Amino acid sequence: MAKILIIEDEDKIAEVVSDYLKNNGHEPFVESNGIRGQNTFLENKFDLIILDLMLPDISGECLCRFIRRRSRVPVMMLTAKADEASLLYGFRIGADDYLTKPFSPRELMVRIDALLRRSRAEPAMQLIDFDMGDLKLDSGKRKLIKRGVELHLTPIEFDILEKLISSPGRIFTREDIIQSVMGYDFKGIDRTVDSHIRNLRSKIEDCPKAPSYVLTQRGKGFYFNG
Ligand code: CA
Repeated sequence: MAKILIIEDEDKIAEVVSDYLKNNGHEPFVESNGIRGQNTFLENKFDLIILDLMLPDISGECLCRFIRRRSRVPVMMLTAKADEASLLYGFRIGADDYLTKPFSPRELMVRIDALLRRSRAEPAMQLIDFDMGDLKLDSGKRKLIKRGVELHLTPIEFDILEKLISSPGRIFTREDIIQSVMGYDFKGIDRTVDSHIRNLRSKIEDCPKAPSYVLTQRGKGFYFNG
């Protein structure tokens, strides 16, 4: 059972999502605007937040940044904007996953369960330090240092990088990354991984368009060049 806050101004969507969550054994709380959502977030401890991007008062983007500055609670964004720019933006402001309306409530449940499993997973028994010269990754403290400066990655970006670094040169397919890092089964076309990789490169690479750490093997996947 997870305590889940839904911040959504469209009553019908909030109701459907809330019913699905209840039927899946969760405890949903609904707020229909950003200010109330923000206050409820501050006054309670939630296991996950479902956040609509277009709210009548404060934007979902602002609220997502607000939440991310205070908590690592998983944030699932709902949006009517399907274009890639807003998708990339969603990840950059710290959302963990993203669904475009109209969405299938069953798909939403699968993704929510995956986010909850990730956030509840026990920390790995063996914590590993990776020192790749300029880049140092501390699994235990979940820190990434580049030439002495700490870089701030989202939890998923960190997990993807950690996965790639754990086996330099090995190619991980999108399916590998989705299954092992994000925790759900891969079906069909999913550009989620590409978005996370692009954001990761924009943070860790000197020149994101000509990356030297996280490389693409065309038609196969991604690998860490170590
Ligand atoms: Ca809305």
